[in-house]
Amino acid sequence: MSEIADRLEKIEQNICAACERAGRTRESVKLVVVTKTVGTEEIREVIQQGYTDLGESRVQHLKDVAEGVDEYLTINRGRSGVPAGVKWHMIGHLQRNKVKKALKYCSSIQSVDTLRLAEEINTNAGKQGLRPDVFIQVNCSGESQKYGVPVGAAGHLAEQIETMGNLRLVGLMTMAPLTKDDGVIRSCFARAREVFEDIRRDGLAGSQFRHLSMGMSQDYQIAVEEGATVLRVGSAIFAG
Ligand SMILES: *Cc1c(COP(=O)(O)O)cnc(C)c1O
Repeated sequence: MSEIADRLEKIEQNICAACERAGRTRESVKLVVVTKTVGTEEIREVIQQGYTDLGESRVQHLKDVAEGVDEYLTINRGRSGVPAGVKWHMIGHLQRNKVKKALKYCSSIQSVDTLRLAEEINTNAGKQGLRPDVFIQVNCSGESQKYGVPVGAAGHLAEQIETMGNLRLVGLMTMAPLTKDDGVIRSCFARAREVFEDIRRDGLAGSQFRHLSMGMSQDYQIAVEEGATVLRVGSAIFAG
């Protein structure tokens, strides 16, 4: 087995164990494989293991690898183990002048953290006849992060995005602070979960608002225990 397949299997075992601890099914959690440090070769291996949700944080790299993956899928169409397509998620900070290009390759944008960015995506999606999934990125850790709306502002932004006809608001995304303190990480995820539940309870978003994207290589098991439905894992797969 390749090293990538080997690491993916270990991560699968960890996710399953965390699901079991939390009384959840494995199907309730999606693993997005973050490919920002690798090229098409490595991504092919991941796809061959059955993973078709892929995450990128820079538009230029997204373009390069998305085109490489498309070529691979086209050439190998119909072969066993080759899926019909993949879904790209934009997970990094997105500048408004890169929205048009990002939408060409990804159908999910997890890093929406301002009204102006949401409006820009809505306008561009309308022009291109698209309706991307969007997540609001919330800053669950208070001061230490550059991006993400404060938790107290997420509900209002959700209401505003709900009025935009070309966007599908599907959930919240958050990043835990960089720390080895599991307690701090856990309370950050718990806070994001609360905000998520509040928005649902108050009916600020529609029934498609079902996802909580949190958990990376260092903390995906805690995220599963705290209710994540989407994990974003990169280095644990590609860097060992
Ligand atoms: C890079 C990145 C990840 C994956 O991080 P790893 O620690 O490599 O698993 C997840 N989410 C975001 C927003 C990222 O930028």
